[in-house]
Amino acid sequence: MKKLFICFLFWLICGSVFAQDAPLDYKPKVLLVTAHPDDDALFSATVFKTTKLLGGVVDLALMTNGEGGYKYSTLGNYIYGRELDTEEIGRAYLPGIRKKELMAGGDIVGIRNYFFFDQKDFYYTLDVEEALTKWDTEMIVDRLMGIMHEEEYDFLFLMLPFEEFHGHHKAATVLALRALKQLPEENRPIALEAFVRRGEEDSGIEFTMLEEHPSTKVMPDVTFEFNRNQTFGHNNRLNYNIIANWVIAEHKSQGTMQLLMQSNNGIIEQYWFPSLNTEKGLAKTKAFFEVINTAQPD
Ligand SMILES: [Zn+2]
Repeated sequence: MKKLFICFLFWLICGSVFAQDAPLDYKPKVLLVTAHPDDDALFSATVFKTTKLLGGVVDLALMTNGEGGYKYSTLGNYIYGRELDTEEIGRAYLPGIRKKELMAGGDIVGIRNYFFFDQKDFYYTLDVEEALTKWDTEMIVDRLMGIMHEEEYDFLFLMLPFEEFHGHHKAATVLALRALKQLPEENRPIALEAFVRRGEEDSGIEFTMLEEHPSTKVMPDVTFEFNRNQTFGHNNRLNYNIIANWVIAEHKSQGTMQLLMQSNNGIIEQYWFPSLNTEKGLAKTKAFFEVINTAQPD
């Protein structure tokens, strides 16, 4: 009996010590919903930490086939040996090329599954309604809902639907939120809308909601961040901009994302909290980002 009691005491002490050390009491599951094959670079450091340091799972649902990126493929012509920056050749070859680039980048940050929606990436437009009219929105919402229902994600990472951003980015977020709202409240992942700041000096974007799409409305004065400048490793010479640069470098048919992420001050990933999430979701998100900000490689 005494032996049993000692065992119990040992379990209690070790158990509680272990619990304090455990970063989270669950392995986070995240679904990214993006429009183009390089958009996921926005989340890359947080995704890396989620999969590699927290043992989590990250999947990616990609709305378009990326063919509209042909205008930025001039350097890609030399890599792939085709005139990718001409409309006919670019639109024919980029969907295949960009999927491979996406998955090569995804391997670096540990993306598990890809869900391709293959909607036409027609051209750059600010107009969200154009994509919402031209894409097969019913199929997208149904399929996204099915994926979320099946996989029971903790978080849904979306692109911030800021007025001045690409209409496809805004449409991807609007449709993902539409799908989310069709799930019973207790089965919904926590949605977060993300963009980046270029270092501490950049005050970032002022965002409330995308006009005429109230589900995108965010809670005022609440954002969560991960600063890629966080250092680690030998003499603290490494940081998480490295990961993002590796991911972006896989997209050799493109180039503009490199320039967006080019900052002497490094990049801070910033996540807004839509008001349609619950209060409970707020506490869970806070705990998640505390761990994202503290977890470091061994
Ligand atoms: Zn994009």
